Amino acid sequence: MNALSRRKFLKITGAAVGVAAAGTAAVKATRVSGSAASGAPGVRRIPTYCDICFWKCGTIATVRDGVLWKVEGNPLDPLSEGRLCPRGTGGVGAHFDPDRLRAPLMRKRNRGDEEWVEVTWDEALTFIAAKLEKIKATYGPEAVALFSHGIGGNFLKHTMKAYGTPNISAPSFAQCRGPRDVGFRLTFGEDISSPERTDIRNTQCLVLIGSHLGENMHNTQVQEFAEAVGKGATVIVVDPRFSIAAGKAKHYLPIKPGTDLALILAWMNVLVTEQLYDAEYVAKFGFGFDQFAAYLRQFSPQWAYPETGIEPDVIRATAREMARYRPASLVHPGRHVTWYGDDTQRSRAIALLNALLGNWGRKGGFYTPVSMDVPPYPYPAYPTSVKGKVDNPDHRYPFAHETITTGIREATLTGKPYPIKSWFVYATNLFHALPNEQETIRAIQNLDLLVVIDVIPSEIAGWADVVLPESVYLERFDDLNVEWFREPFISFRQPVVEPPNEQKPNWWIAKTLAGKLGLGAYYPWDDIEEYFRHRLSAAGLSYDELKTRGILRGPKQPIYFDEGVPAQFPTPTGKIEFYSPQLAQAGFDPIPAYKRPAAGPPGSYRLLYGRAPVHSFSRTQSNRILSDMMAENEVWVNPNTARLHGLANGNSIRLKNQDGVVSNRVRVRVTERIRPDCVYIVHGFGHTARGLRHAFGKGASDSQLITQYVTDPLMGGTAMNVNFVTFESQET
Ligand code: SF4
Repeated sequence: MNALSRRKFLKITGAAVGVAAAGTAAVKATRVSGSAASGAPGVRRIPTYCDICFWKCGTIATVRDGVLWKVEGNPLDPLSEGRLCPRGTGGVGAHFDPDRLRAPLMRKRNRGDEEWVEVTWDEALTFIAAKLEKIKATYGPEAVALFSHGIGGNFLKHTMKAYGTPNISAPSFAQCRGPRDVGFRLTFGEDISSPERTDIRNTQCLVLIGSHLGENMHNTQVQEFAEAVGKGATVIVVDPRFSIAAGKAKHYLPIKPGTDLALILAWMNVLVTEQLYDAEYVAKFGFGFDQFAAYLRQFSPQWAYPETGIEPDVIRATAREMARYRPASLVHPGRHVTWYGDDTQRSRAIALLNALLGNWGRKGGFYTPVSMDVPPYPYPAYPTSVKGKVDNPDHRYPFAHETITTGIREATLTGKPYPIKSWFVYATNLFHALPNEQETIRAIQNLDLLVVIDVIPSEIAGWADVVLPESVYLERFDDLNVEWFREPFISFRQPVVEPPNEQKPNWWIAKTLAGKLGLGAYYPWDDIEEYFRHRLSAAGLSYDELKTRGILRGPKQPIYFDEGVPAQFPTPTGKIEFYSPQLAQAGFDPIPAYKRPAAGPPGSYRLLYGRAPVHSFSRTQSNRILSDMMAENEVWVNPNTARLHGLANGNSIRLKNQDGVVSNRVRVRVTERIRPDCVYIVHGFGHTARGLRHAFGKGASDSQLITQYVTDPLMGGTAMNVNFVTFESQET
């Protein structure tokens, strides 16, 4: 990794402590043979990158006689290596979706009625700009918040920062990966980042704790998982549900939900008491190991057995198996980890377990990501906020290093520490992303302006004052994707076909709105291709080459300590913190402590949720190609539970949660693959938005049933696996 790239990575992760000064030379792209854009007469093959999820796999779209035909992987792309996942290949369905938003809409009557008037773009953006000016004059620019997901939000973020608000957030922090990134940052000084820096390809022992690779279809990880399994890697899966990944496991541990931290402590007890850990690595890089080792003595496998339901011999055998392959032994940090309320400390325990295996910076463990060096566009400086961010007053959550979405929602509800009067929501369906939809609805009622920018009429769009239809990824340019990965590269998204109606790309929406707000100086370029040319030429790279190939790759660089990457840990001690002085100082456990999870009401079952390989969140259920593969979800029920309640495969039931909320109808799947104390459904179904005609009412929504959540005291994440259901009614 060149020095500049490493410095920038640390800066991005906000953890620049102790990093050496660095040079300024850009990494030059390597010319890769073969053009992605050649094709037969009447057939055009155009490189872009996928947006069916946010992994950004390089794609080649084929257009035949002007009509979008198919999408495939771009062989030049190191993320996908020329192979898309099943969702990605269904990307064509997003373009042809008859339910997609077509023209700007303004609310006719009450919020949530989903009754609209079609307006022109000029009418919609003029209305929004006038409202924003009024809000700024009355409350200050900080009264506007943006919720955004994915690279498509970059230009809207730019407009919002130019307008003057610091309240820019994504559910991917407080509702997903935040506890993991904080837990690893507290331990190693750096985040896990996305794509995760996990060297799955080279691991010889992979431990998955509730992480269901293969159902959670992040392409690179799934391909590397398959490669590792093909090479004979040992797989250990810990999950209350026998996932697809469990089918590849040598050891499957069907743990009691909520007790993972007890298992991790017991594993670490075995590694330390049996002296199986990497003593040399720990002595060289660790801080506070003696206190840590003394603390661990109490957590024997016998202690963990009644907590977790995992037998002591199995705990010992799996710990020894991990030690056998270290440092090429990897405990996956997970991605969506907002589960039980102990999430940051559980993630920190996973980080510590990896530290004992000596795998940070080592082959088969965690590599050091690298990147091309493409300078940002030289925009004018943004105005400085007088009030600061609204989401985390008095640093209530001292280790939150990103904005907390639910903190913005709370401020919108309470008006404290100051009022929030407008939400912009880009490409995220807050009704399915945030827990407790009634809180979201109550907060919306306090707004003067709710704008939703999306491609489909989602539930949150149904509550908007103005809905702006975005073109789908195959119809638009997006920002350059300068990725941090195991090798440096840039990928490029460009239009393949025209949008079918009045849809516009996000960059055009953001730029036009900025113009109406008198912020034109923040968009000195006339056309987005001018912006691309400027940035790439500043890096010594060719825009035309990127446009033709879709991908520019830089030369490979060292990614492991053994290859010369400096072993730096930008924590306050400059070491891997087995004992964390910064946690102790802030009044938290300096070494993770286990607390038994609260049980649900008698006779109820913990509601667990997860992903399916053919859908992304709640965004793809109306895509006809993907819904053909999976039109609705099912509720997984253990045979003993099913017998107790007289349920059989295929029964249509409703789930009722502890607060009396009842779901849509959902079919029962009776299976040994789930423990008897919980049930499981795939997230994202059970749509209630009338505009989603194809997906409406199909399956049950886990989000609707997630009325309870526990807030992580370290970083404000919302744990959602704390809801319990019973079976409300039955029909065959
Ligand atoms: S993982 Fe699949 S859906 Fe996501 S970007 Fe890659 S191909 Fe597209």
